[in-house]
Amino acid sequence: MLMLERFSFGVGDRFAHQAKAQLRAFQMLAKDGIDVAPVWNKSNREHTFIGSEPQSVFDAAQAAVKELGWSKGWHVDADHIRLETVDRFMSCSDFFTIDVADSIGKPAAAADVAAFVARHTELVGTLSIAGVSAPLTVTQADVERVAAKYLLAVQDAGKIYRHIVAAKGEGNIIAEVSMDETDAPQTPPELLIILAALADENVKLQTIAPKFTGRFNKGVDYVGDLVQFEKEFNDDLAVIAHAVRQYGLPANLKLSVHSGSDKFSLYPIIRRALARTGAGLHVKTAGTTWLEELIGLAEAGGDGLALAQEIYAYSLEHVDELCAPYASVIDIDRSKLPTTATVNHWTGPQLASALRHIQSHPEFNAHVRQLLHVSFKIAAKAGTRYTNLLKANEAIVAKQVTENIYERHMRPLFIG
Ligand SMILES: [Zn+2]
Repeated sequence: MLMLERFSFGVGDRFAHQAKAQLRAFQMLAKDGIDVAPVWNKSNREHTFIGSEPQSVFDAAQAAVKELGWSKGWHVDADHIRLETVDRFMSCSDFFTIDVADSIGKPAAAADVAAFVARHTELVGTLSIAGVSAPLTVTQADVERVAAKYLLAVQDAGKIYRHIVAAKGEGNIIAEVSMDETDAPQTPPELLIILAALADENVKLQTIAPKFTGRFNKGVDYVGDLVQFEKEFNDDLAVIAHAVRQYGLPANLKLSVHSGSDKFSLYPIIRRALARTGAGLHVKTAGTTWLEELIGLAEAGGDGLALAQEIYAYSLEHVDELCAPYASVIDIDRSKLPTTATVNHWTGPQLASALRHIQSHPEFNAHVRQLLHVSFKIAAKAGTRYTNLLKANEAIVAKQVTENIYERHMRPLFIG
């Protein structure tokens, strides 16, 4: 069976030019004695926005792996696929993020809900699960309510899983089930009930991405109650270990954190939890690699800086349409966005400092960062003018990409 490694780290590379620079960070971490498998992920939506094909992600990853002589595991994730979008990813992915968030809250057949509740009497009562902060108290009404809310989504996951397995063969894929792109977080007891239902559907999932408590805005730090997050994260780990034993789910099943990138304040919490429990982790972060490209171009000056400034000017003019698809995952205070004239007078290092995610830096501007993060379509529109500048400034851009992943993500998450 194709088994996902204990630690895996999902990276995005919107324009397929940074796989090598990203992989270098994994090599540096391996030198520190920590093996983390890179997983290159790109969703159907992202491919549509950029106008790219899923095969390009595999090709870029494979070229980087060969060039750098990476002999450990690596994967390509068909990110947030559904039944209607998965087929174009089939030949070039071995990791499938099965997104069933759209089916949450839609009713499953009443008979199916009743059968689930009747089959799972073990879920009712005061459940003492090793490692949870307090015993979980679950009533039959709770099981009914959670089943009514999630059973259809779980059945959908089963359908998509079987569709993938029919094409690729069971044992040849890594399956993740994601429920993060929804309004309400899933509590640890809900996660347990969902895992029981996924086991019933025979989905051999190796990772599950719940929605956690708090705000996971794109490209900026976590906003929420850290104490509550820590409690829920630890309880989720305990629930997963329990579900593996109780329901025969894959032994390496682990949490997947779809971070929306750069949830720095969660890293120490996650690191402590992994050290304490020996659990694995999949984390998707550094989807901001394209911002590191912009930072590199700004630092490079000349045509690179000019294009970065142009992209800002355009994004400011089109702020409404650019932000609309991400309304629930960005918080931009428009009064904090500098004018085009101001940014056009900035030096390369000034623009770089506004963007680079160093929160303590006096010139860092989280509003500029969020706006530009969702503005990658503008760079896509610039086409080869953009990608040729990436090639011309490869060294300075690659340095930003590698440093960001290694220094700001990997070290705090895995080393401390
Ligand atoms: Zn996600």
